[in-house]
Formats: sequence, C-alpha cells, structure tokens
Amino acid sequence: MNTSIELTRGDITTQKDIDAIVNAANAQLLPGGGVAGAIHRAAGAGLKAEAVPQGPVKPGEAVITGGHDLPNKHVIHCLGPVYGQDKPEDKLLANCYRNALQLAENKEIESIAFPSISTGAFGYPLEDAAEVALEAIRTSVRELDNVKLIRMVLFGKKDLMVYEEKMKKIFDL
Ligand code: ADP
Repeated sequence: MNTSIELTRGDITTQKDIDAIVNAANAQLLPGGGVAGAIHRAAGAGLKAEAVPQGPVKPGEAVITGGHDLPNKHVIHCLGPVYGQDKPEDKLLANCYRNALQLAENKEIESIAFPSISTGAFGYPLEDAAEVALEAIRTSVRELDNVKLIRMVLFGKKDLMVYEEKMKKIFDL
C-alpha cells in the first residue's frame, strides 16, 4: 500500500492541492445546504448544469464532474444515506467511500478529499459514521494504485477529534 491517509480540520472548498473533492450530495445533485451548498457556491453555475443531468442518484452512488471555478479539477458527488431512513445505513455509507475511490482510481486521480458524508443534515451519528468511513477507506486502499493521497476534511474541532480516535483504532496506530 502506498496511499497516504490524512485527517485535517478545514473547508472542503479550499483544498487547493487536491485533484478531486467529494460532495456530500443530494439525490438531484442540486446545490442545497451544507457541503453541497458550499461546493456549488464556490464552483459556480457550471457545476449545476453539468451535475443535474447525471441525477437522480441512489444512496451509495457516486458520479463525477469537472471542478469548474473550484481549485480542483474534479468533483465526485456521493449521496449518503439518510440516517433512520435509507437502510442498511452502514453499507450504503461505506459504498459512498468505496465508489468514490474506485471512480477516482479509474480516472487516474492522484489525490482526493472527503467531507464527513451523512453526518450533517442526514443525521448519521458522528462516531458511527467515522468508523464506517475509515473502515471503508482501509479496505479500499488495497485496490488503489493511482490514488496516492486520501484526505478527510473535518469541519468542526469535535469532528476531527472523533475521526482521530477512530483512525487509531481502525489503522491500529
Ligand atoms: P449530509 O447531507 O450528507 O449529512 P452535510 O453537508 O449536511 O451532508 O454535512 C456533512 C458534514 O460536513 C457535516 O459534519 C458538516 O458539518 C460538514 N460540513 C459542512 N460544510 C462543510 C464544508 N464547507 N467543508 C467541510 N465540511 C463541511
């Protein structure tokens, strides 16, 4: 395995050194709130025009567009599960990370940054989501050759702390 995995606190729209950022999308691939709103605001109207015809998407699915006015070449849009509604939540959430990484691999993308999918408006408890996300990343990296860097970008201080704890556990650090 020669893929680095890092955690950082920050904003997903300002990851200038990253080839592809991941959007915590809605089914219609519309701007909306949270991560999706921030990404569409930073990317400009061209992103919506390119993304919407690829929708609607199902929970766990990932599709790719250009980055438009973002500092990144690509945006990979993943629809996370709505907690308590889309089941089984853990498998659907893991599919988001796996499908996004596979898409990046197929497009020969070298670096990718994820937000914490489903833990905002979709209500997935943070600790459980962090475990699912990091476990999905751990098992996916074996199949990655082109992707050299995976970054989780956590918005809040607590989010970062929770991911740090789970990282130690899952990667046996
Ligand atoms: P979902 O609908 O999948 O739950 P949200 O966009 O509501 O997605 O939130 C997902 C997570 O991303 C939340 O923890 C939220 O605090 C965080 N978040 C919101 N805006 C940003 C941003 N600009 N960069 C990184 N993370 C963000």
